Amino acid sequence: MQRIIDRQGFRMLPVAAQALSNRQDARWRQRAAKVLPGGMTGHLNAAALPAGYPQFFERGQGCRVWDVDGNAYIDFMCSWGPNLLGHHHPQVDAAARRQQALGDCLNGPTPRLVELAERFVARSAHADWVLFQKNGTDATTVSLMVARAASGKRKVLVAARAYHGSDPWCTPVSAGVTPEDRAHLIRYGYNDVASLDAAADAAGNDLAAIVCAAFKHDLGVDQALPTPAFARRARELCDKAGAALILDEVRAGYRVHASGSWETVGVRPDLSAWSKSIANGYALAAVTGIDALRKAATRIYSTGSFWCGGVAMAAGLATLEIAETADVVSHVRRMGQRLRDGIEAQAARHGTPVRQTGPAALPLILFDDDPGCDKGALFATEALRHGVYMHPRHNMFLSLAHTGQDIDLALHATDAAFAAVAARFGAR
Ligand SMILES: *Cc1c(COP(=O)(O)O)cnc(C)c1O
Repeated sequence: MQRIIDRQGFRMLPVAAQALSNRQDARWRQRAAKVLPGGMTGHLNAAALPAGYPQFFERGQGCRVWDVDGNAYIDFMCSWGPNLLGHHHPQVDAAARRQQALGDCLNGPTPRLVELAERFVARSAHADWVLFQKNGTDATTVSLMVARAASGKRKVLVAARAYHGSDPWCTPVSAGVTPEDRAHLIRYGYNDVASLDAAADAAGNDLAAIVCAAFKHDLGVDQALPTPAFARRARELCDKAGAALILDEVRAGYRVHASGSWETVGVRPDLSAWSKSIANGYALAAVTGIDALRKAATRIYSTGSFWCGGVAMAAGLATLEIAETADVVSHVRRMGQRLRDGIEAQAARHGTPVRQTGPAALPLILFDDDPGCDKGALFATEALRHGVYMHPRHNMFLSLAHTGQDIDLALHATDAAFAAVAARFGAR
């Protein structure tokens, strides 16, 4: 059994099966059920995960998280994206603390706003300006507003099943939403050029924007990188109609390409929406845009009490600095590939085939012949019992804090998890 001690001297979890204690978690859930609707809502709701997953966490450090019962896990969710450099990154936290000591929420922004905007624009291949917000939903929504203000048009093409946030125009659940909230959305299929053409036709001369995720990352189905033909067609249709091509980078940003995910297919958007990873866990979002949309971005009114908070911006500056000097994109790709290769070999050895799709830095593991995700659930639960926090059907995230040794440790856990799947469902 391997034991590892981290820099602070905390005992790291030996990757061996254990019965996870959950007494504290159960207690917090009981209290939560009384004062929080449903006990918990949104994407962090553990009710959407197989039984055995903890709801409440005590701390994070590097690529590890500890739940409230003290169980430690090698973390492959990275807070569902935000932790790009690892939990509690010392340099990011120090920058945030320095700013906190000066002031966070003031009568106007701190100079960090300008510094971060300069860095952001310099880093982005397409952008001449940036607007900051707090959440990814803010950024996608502001992108639509800019596109509509610029064009005076209403229709927006959005891929079927794509996630762009939780405002009424885009939330995947219809409760509390009117058809009118989505009246001007037209659906197309990601990477399906014919469906994109049909959607653009349906928009007629009222097309304001085409929204595309950086790659296809819909819940529970295989991921797909954008095909160059699809990306180029989206660009052409926008150019022809005077509409804006909006790239939703909220999930992929900083992990796929340093200066914009569609640099990989040679297509530049007019607007990009960013959040999640850009301040390593501090609340920050951004819309970047081209010069031609600067005036429209000046005209819309979209703001928030906390959107200019200096602490998140200081954290964002530190995150950018580290992401660039450490070449995070290469690191997460390498670590993701190491995990993918290991998983591939184990799946073959255990006779339990899986599909691993999308960029290696954002892994998704789906079992063949598993329509109800029963194999996936058992696999993830067994990995959890062996000290590895994975998701059975949502894409996962690598961080700068994952080392080759962490990946190899995690692969011990997944080996046992594959064995459990083969034992329960049979090997091929
Ligand atoms: C998470 C996400 C959003 C929404 O971001 P929030 O910060 O949760 O509001 C939008 N688009 C994509 C692709 C996302 O992954």
